[in-house]
Amino acid sequence: MNLPLAHDIARRYAAATTADIALPIVFKTGSGCRVEDIDGRRYIDFISGYGVISTGWQRREILAAMQTQMETTCFAPPWLPTREAMLLAEALLSLTPFHLHSCARATGGAEANEAALKAHLALRGGKVLVVGRAYHGGTTRTLALSDQRAFGLPPSAAPEPPRVPPAYCYRCPYGQTFPGCGLECAEAVETAVRADGNITGLLLEAVIGSGGVIIPPQEYFHAIQDICERHNLTLILDEVMTGCGRLGSFLAAEAFELRPHAITLAKGLGAGYVPIGATMLDRDLSEAITRYEDVSATLAWTPLACAAALTNLRLIQEENLAARAREMGTLLLARLTGFFERHLPAHTGEVRGKGLLIGIELVKNRATKEPAPRLAKRLALLCMRGGLMIGSSWDWHTLIVMPPLILDEATMNEALDIVESALKRIAHGADA
Ligand code: PLP
Repeated sequence: MNLPLAHDIARRYAAATTADIALPIVFKTGSGCRVEDIDGRRYIDFISGYGVISTGWQRREILAAMQTQMETTCFAPPWLPTREAMLLAEALLSLTPFHLHSCARATGGAEANEAALKAHLALRGGKVLVVGRAYHGGTTRTLALSDQRAFGLPPSAAPEPPRVPPAYCYRCPYGQTFPGCGLECAEAVETAVRADGNITGLLLEAVIGSGGVIIPPQEYFHAIQDICERHNLTLILDEVMTGCGRLGSFLAAEAFELRPHAITLAKGLGAGYVPIGATMLDRDLSEAITRYEDVSATLAWTPLACAAALTNLRLIQEENLAARAREMGTLLLARLTGFFERHLPAHTGEVRGKGLLIGIELVKNRATKEPAPRLAKRLALLCMRGGLMIGSSWDWHTLIVMPPLILDEATMNEALDIVESALKRIAHGADA
């Protein structure tokens, strides 16, 4: 039998690497919100390569900037300044809160978080408190700070950090209902800090992304900000997924009125064209880390990566993509909520979102809220067969929809038609 090319690549790739292959789909090309695989199948991309493709596939502006850069210089040793890195750092500082003083370089999200953690260690030492269901990266320290157990992530030699439950209103860890709950999830931070005098920092994903698009109420953030100030905690905001416009503002910090000491960015910063991350630090953290040798990666912030990220940031601003994410996100959330409630009422736990980061939590039974990961997989697969890529949380409890920020209404409607027909097939038991 003649196997499709993609199966052959997937088989050989799996044999030759440690990669985890979800499906034998091999991307060939893309444009805007769409991708095509090597077998000629076309998909609308409603996952942005997992929150990466912020300004769309194969943007000519970014490709042109990279081409120009490649023809001059792709690389400079990390101890020498470059014009491109200078411009990128200045652009990032102009887009982030005024009190953030400088940028540390990184090649991705985990490294950006490591840079913030190193600066925090250099300034104060002590432990960093983390939140359940969060994911912060695949290095041993960021893994330890992620919820390894909940998601079956690899073990880490780093010590187990103090951890508090997330502000997960749909499944409140305290069995309460917002707003009458007294925000015990925020109070848990204060209790942990009181109980352990060595806690000096809090690492937070404002919206927990791959852990299930968990969006705390605004009051939670007010409480967290207040606790951090009263207990002098260094607040590190992991904006690897939420940053660069995804939530409808350039940063989650703006959206939730947080004043972190450090903000980390990656994914949507390089938009998939280059590996890049950045850590924005306040003056104290900056000064503490600059007392040491710069151990950012050799390949962090190459002129090529900076040229691509800079052009990407320019597009995000010129095209008002954060505002677009807010507007399209509101429409998309309303339409998805309507479809799921209409076609799958017994299994729709909660549809929640902010900007273009939307989660659909499916359950076996609305009363017991037992998760329905098999149903989520079936639905994602049906969408895929229909020509739409959507994603999920690590544990498949929640489907994740996060299209490129350039999403237009016609593409959204086309995607929604695919979702609706997948839902109808499931509702009529026709997907076996
Ligand atoms: N932080 C968050 C919130 C993430 O979602 C991720 C990746 O999914 C990371 C950090 C790690 O980023 P990277 O895979 O670029 O190292």
